[in-house]
Amino acid sequence: MKILSPSATVTVNAIATKKKMNGERVYNFAAGDPVLKNHDSIISAAIQYAEKKLSPYPPVEGIPELRNLVAEWMNTTCGTEYAKENVLVTCGGKFSLFAIVYALLQSGDEVLIPAPYWVSYPDIVKMAGGIPKVVPTSSENGWKVTPQDLLQHITKNSKILIFNNACNPTGQLYTRQEIHDILGMAKKFGLTVISDEVYSGLVYEEPGFISCGSFPEHKGRVLIVQSCSKNFGMTGWRVGFVLGPKEVIKTLAILQTQSTTGVSVISQWGAVGALENSEEVNSYVKKSMRARRDVFVNTYNSLFPIPIEQVKSALYVFIPLSSMGIYKKIDSVTFTELLISSDNIALVPGTAFGVDGYVRFAFSEPEEDIYQGLQALKDAINRLVGESS
Ligand code: PLP
Repeated sequence: MKILSPSATVTVNAIATKKKMNGERVYNFAAGDPVLKNHDSIISAAIQYAEKKLSPYPPVEGIPELRNLVAEWMNTTCGTEYAKENVLVTCGGKFSLFAIVYALLQSGDEVLIPAPYWVSYPDIVKMAGGIPKVVPTSSENGWKVTPQDLLQHITKNSKILIFNNACNPTGQLYTRQEIHDILGMAKKFGLTVISDEVYSGLVYEEPGFISCGSFPEHKGRVLIVQSCSKNFGMTGWRVGFVLGPKEVIKTLAILQTQSTTGVSVISQWGAVGALENSEEVNSYVKKSMRARRDVFVNTYNSLFPIPIEQVKSALYVFIPLSSMGIYKKIDSVTFTELLISSDNIALVPGTAFGVDGYVRFAFSEPEEDIYQGLQALKDAINRLVGESS
């Protein structure tokens, strides 16, 4: 455990929450947690089940009703061809990722992780005895990984590529052609592709969302990670999914028999409620998050001299310190520590995503909080810049 570090986003969020509980005004841009009431479909399905007053152990793979609905939802929204047997219900997308790498990796195997990456990937790989191999990408290329980038980091020990589309922290989206080329490279080198698609339903701009599961010629090497957390605003329910070949799903289910025993049945019925009305529930969350994105981008661009581009998907904006007028030598960790301690503004440093000189903002809090938080940030930066000149 000594090689692991705690999740940076969870840590910053915990500091912000503690300050809030002490009665302090905190501007929380750290957690990608849609602050939104659960849709009624979720609550009524969970209550209906709970009122039966019988909650036995769940089937380890997940309740059949939910597995069927997940396959149907993916097939309808993403053009995949999954059946119930291709679906495993897990304790959130995070456990899906852990289960896959734990089951598939042998000690010393390498996992390719394009940076900027979601904070937990490297540590999840380390926990499974694997070696995270970070593949840098460039802002000039919109932070998208290319087959050429991968080629420079593939070795004979490379086993898995973790591919994140729609992307946290950049909001970037890949085109069908780009995914085609990346999957082609994975095939050439015998890589399994874990496609983290937990933001597939929070896509606001073209080219829209394309799933790695919609390439039938690659279905044997692709494992999709999905979740109710973001698409249906259900972070605390802890319901995620793996979709992939039946044999892999069976293996992962064995891992669940010896670890979690499956997911809370009440949460699974809540997820059934969400998926039975998937279009309505997702639209409800997406509409709200799109409005928060608009407030974030418009307010930011009215306050700071260098405008940010429109965010295409997910819940985040990845911004260079220099564009906020911070030109003095300060790393992203020192900057975020200063902001949370003196100004109660919680951000996540770019180093947590594998890129220094940047910070990540989440726009998942209500619009008024975003607006006020950005005003407070502007004041804090004016002060910092003033102090250093
Ligand atoms: N993948 C990405 C890219 C994420 O941003 C998150 C959560 O923030 C997860 C996976 C895990 O989500 P959950 O475990 O809540 O389903």
